[in-house]
Amino acid sequence: MKSIICGIDLGTTNSVIAFLKDGVPTAITVEEGTAILPSVVSFEPANGAHLVGRRARNRRAAFPDLTVSSVKRLMGKETTVSAGEQSFSPEEISSCILKYLAERASETLGERIEKVVVTVPAYFDDAQRRATIRAGELAGLDLVRIVNEPTAAALVYDHVLSPQGDESPCVLVYDLGGGTFDVSILEIKGEIKEVLASGGDTRLGGDDFDERLKDHLLEKLREQAGKEALTEDASLKVRLLDIAERAKIALSDHPYVKVNEVAVAMLKGRPLNLDFELTREQFQSLTADLIERTMTKVIEALEEAHLGPEEIGKVILVGGATRMPAVHEALSTLFDQPIAHSVDPDLCVALGAAIQAGLITGDSIGQILLDVTAHSLGLKTLDEIDPQTGDADHFSTIIRRNTRIPVSRSEVFWTVGDQQSGVEVEVFQGENASCAENTLIGSFFYPLKPAPARSPVIVEFAYDLEGLVRINLDQKGYDNRKEVTLDIRNRRVEDAASSGSAQSPVNYIAEKARRLAAEAGLGEELRGDLLRVASEYEAAIRTVDDEDRVDELEDRLLAVMEQAEEVLESGE
Ligand code: ADP
Ligand code: MG
Repeated sequence: MKSIICGIDLGTTNSVIAFLKDGVPTAITVEEGTAILPSVVSFEPANGAHLVGRRARNRRAAFPDLTVSSVKRLMGKETTVSAGEQSFSPEEISSCILKYLAERASETLGERIEKVVVTVPAYFDDAQRRATIRAGELAGLDLVRIVNEPTAAALVYDHVLSPQGDESPCVLVYDLGGGTFDVSILEIKGEIKEVLASGGDTRLGGDDFDERLKDHLLEKLREQAGKEALTEDASLKVRLLDIAERAKIALSDHPYVKVNEVAVAMLKGRPLNLDFELTREQFQSLTADLIERTMTKVIEALEEAHLGPEEIGKVILVGGATRMPAVHEALSTLFDQPIAHSVDPDLCVALGAAIQAGLITGDSIGQILLDVTAHSLGLKTLDEIDPQTGDADHFSTIIRRNTRIPVSRSEVFWTVGDQQSGVEVEVFQGENASCAENTLIGSFFYPLKPAPARSPVIVEFAYDLEGLVRINLDQKGYDNRKEVTLDIRNRRVEDAASSGSAQSPVNYIAEKARRLAAEAGLGEELRGDLLRVASEYEAAIRTVDDEDRVDELEDRLLAVMEQAEEVLESGE
């Protein structure tokens, strides 16, 4: 029988092992419920044993001297790391991680894994690559191939069914990990991938974002401490960094996060707590320069490859920290295209290593089918008013195209007027900045409680595998929630609040009216009429027994629609 070759992403912060399962690259679960193994090793002085992964990382606060992390930075250097009384070469520490991964994979696959493909950053020099091979040997593994990380990532996207087809052969891989940032530009010539440029910053990663937030948390604690001096000792630092990282991760999916932690520090026997709300905006302003630094490196790489942003066919995101929305925003501005995130950025490199392993063993590699959103989903907002027509028609994306489903994301929107009675929520899908060019998939009215202008409304979209989008609206601070479900495939709106409507069929007239209202060049008044009469008409069908009333509303709606069609025709 042919032996399996596994692919390993030996990362600075996290490592992953994957294999080709019936032609499909698959990451192997190595710790309770996750395929992501923290690249941390912690030693026990008493018996010389060591722990790897999450358990090792959990010991870091209590036993900083016995715990080793980020050893990848030292690979290829003539140096040792000490853990208690003992000292180790960087290769020895890395070998503990490789060995642990291979053992977990052997257990899962039911055969001893001896051969592996391991990835390294494109900029690794000869000494660093040789140190990686040596780590494999120390782990008792046959390291059959070293592959560059961006090349592995690009290999995955080679096998992802792409709806676009003909693209430029140049791809840019943006990899923001825990402690390092790498950018590479590759030219794809079939199986051969040539690195045209590679750059980055080996001292910039997700950890720096945690560090910024940690300083902010420390300031909050110092405000409470008043005149008393609060010093940041090692254990306070670890605790704050942990809180900061969790808040950062939450802010990737939500516009706000509640930081609520008791007794973070003790001051003369008095516990200091953290209890406040942090917005994504605040976080982004604390860290904007870090994103800026990565973008400078992206531009340098483009210059080195003698390419303009428009010559890049695809931007591939790798590394956990690319989940931050600020990364997508900066890149989509520079490249003027929605940025793909379709393969899990934490697993992508290991999956590519598994594909490389399959190419070596001669296995056939299937198309990777992804459960991703085919279109971006979002709302119509007033952010941009067309100076010609006076129409507000800005598409605000909530879930980007190519996002893995199931997914849930929320954004904050702001009311316009004082005591605004409500908003007509219009949900669109598509890739255009203007809603008129996207598809209206449903709309409904959300009544607001009396509040001043510019009060926040949080809108959460949860998209599941069945094609249902659950929309939750929350007028912040007013105890006014509403849940609505849209069936994207069947274009149906279900209002969770008004029971009985669940079975109501699509109302084609009202839907057509809403689509008309979404057309550009209609004028605000006519648009408002369309939406209002459509809502009244729909409500009448659902609740009113009086058929005459329904007929009357239907006539009125048809009349407004006719008017609207005339306006649109004359405008063309
Ligand atoms: P490396 O390649 O260095 O091993 P990873 O690709 O595993 O690193 O990325 C780890 C970093 O990604 C950490 O800083 C972690 O906090 C960050 N990260 C993970 N998930 C998210 C998320 N949802 N939002 C923001 N950052 C995240
Ligand atoms: Mg990585």
